[in-house]
Parts: sequence; structure tokens; C-alpha cells
Amino acid sequence: MTAKILDGKAIAAQQRQLVKAQIEKLERAPGLAVIRVGDNPASEVYVRNKRNACAEVGINSQAFELPANTSEDDLLELLDKLNNDDDMDGILVQLPLPDHINSDLVLERILPEKDIDGFHPYNIGRLALRMPLLRSCTPKGIMTLLAHTGIDLTGLDAVIIGQSNIVGRPMALELLAARCTITVCHSRTRNLQEKISNADIVVAAVGKPNFVKGEWIKPGAIVIDVGINRLENGKLVGDVEFEAACQRASWITPVPGGVGPMTVATLLENTLQAALFSN
Ligand code: NAD
Repeated sequence: MTAKILDGKAIAAQQRQLVKAQIEKLERAPGLAVIRVGDNPASEVYVRNKRNACAEVGINSQAFELPANTSEDDLLELLDKLNNDDDMDGILVQLPLPDHINSDLVLERILPEKDIDGFHPYNIGRLALRMPLLRSCTPKGIMTLLAHTGIDLTGLDAVIIGQSNIVGRPMALELLAARCTITVCHSRTRNLQEKISNADIVVAAVGKPNFVKGEWIKPGAIVIDVGINRLENGKLVGDVEFEAACQRASWITPVPGGVGPMTVATLLENTLQAALFSN
């Protein structure tokens, strides 16, 4: 078997067009505040990509580039100001934050209806209770990719590798809501290979290059590779041995060009959704 490619780049482009068309019908362009603290080079690239995508679809993004020594209190004060600013429909705080700032406290300070990253406990809780409002971008984008396979997910066995608050956990809730049977694996999981070998859907979000071996994949499984790892030679790879996994999977996401563009497109979709709350 040679896997079909789930082309996140193309699907994200379609999604951006849909968002753009809806924004054109609004009286006021949605506003998004994008906050970055410090000068993490990876964050700089992510923030630039997000702002370019906003410009493409007609979202008015405003950048807040704060120095690395910004105090937690000053950041919280800025969030309070943006929470009260009617022109700002969404607020995004780029992670990671410097060590002296408590990210949980910061994310919880954003009004849930402006939390376009979907990280606020309120939004995660709503997803857990199957009444989602703003959904975390990466897992929601993956659900859009899965919809493009045309496969009925009901009852499928899904294995998620990684239990982070921003990918693994909300991913598990998304797949549970889609009526999959879910197994969430992490660094203490035993017999990982066996669990992956039985999965109809594998979502890898570990952050270790080629961590999931192609031979572990069950023939016909759908493989979603969330990992973004830069090798010493500068090449970007995912968490899955791509070539080998292609020989067994039915569908697979490439890295780059799979989950990454969907995360950004979903962020735009969420900003539009947040703008519609107040329109
Ligand atoms: P994280 O470091 O917070 O979480 C990694 C998870 O992997 C942890 O839950 C850990 O328990 C698990 N893990 C580590 N070693 C393991 C092992 N040996 N066996 C099983 N599980 C193990 O990372 P994250 O923020 O969830 O991101 C994961 C990856 O996804 C990173 O490469 C990140 O860059 C990427 N990412 C991509 C996107 C995107 O849009 N494509 C978005 C977010 C994150």
C-alpha cells in the first residue's frame, strides 16, 4: 500500500478562502491581538506566519512585541486592556513564555470568548462536555484534515502520542467527541509499539524526529504527524518515519505541509468565529 497524502497546505488554502469570503460580508474587519514576549526565534517565525495569514483574509492583526523581562503583572494588565477593547475579537499569546511568567495564569486571564487558541480551561471544559465553543487550533485543524479523508471515524481506535495541554489532550477530546475509542500515550506509557500497531488512527505529537517507526503502523491506518523537528542539516521532519509509514498507512500527513498550515488556517477560522460573537 502507498498512502494517500493529506495535503494540509492545499486544504488550509481552501479554508482561508472560505474565511476570507465570510469576512468580506462583515461590517467591521475582525481584530486579533498577537502578543509575543522575548525573542524566541521559532516564535518569531510562527507569529510572522500568523500575521501574514491574517492580512491575506482581512483580519486586522495588531502585534505586541514585549521585551523578555516584561513582568507577569504588566502582561496581565495588557490582557485586561485587550479584553475590554471591542475592536479586538481575539487575543493570542505566543507560547512559550519566559520562565518567570506563569503561562497557565496568563492563558486563563484571556476572556474565553476571545481565546482564539482555545487553551482557556473554560474552552477545554466545553470540549470535554461535547459543547465546544472555541476549539484548540491544532486538534481542530486535524479534525478538518480527517474529514477530508471521507472516512467515518465512528468506533475507530485512535492512539494519540503526547499529552500536552495544547495538542495531545484536546486531540483526545476531539476524537472522543467524534466517537473514536481513544488511547493517550506519554513518556510513561508501557508497550507503546503494541498500542500503535493496533491503532486505526495514529496522532504523533512528541517532538522527536522519526520517533514512530513505519513498521509499527497498522496496514490501512491514518497517520497524523504533528511533530515539527529541525535536523542538524536544517531539514524539517515530523515524529513519524515518513517513507516507511507511507508503505503501510492509507492516509498520511507530510511534514512540512500537513498539520502546520491547518493550525494557522484554523486560527483564522476561530478569529472569525470570535468576531461573529459580537456581530
Ligand atoms: P510537549 O513537549 O508539550 O509534549 C510532548 C509529549 O510527548 C509529552 O506529553 C510527553 O509525555 C510525550 N513523550 C515524550 N517522550 C515520549 C515517549 N518516549 N513515548 C511516548 N510519549 C512521549 O510538546 P507539544 O507542545 O505537544 O508538541 C509536540 C510536537 O508537536 C512538537 O514537535 C511541536 O513542535 C509540534 N507542534 C506542532 C504544531 C503544528 O501546528 N504542526 C502545533 C503544536 C505543536
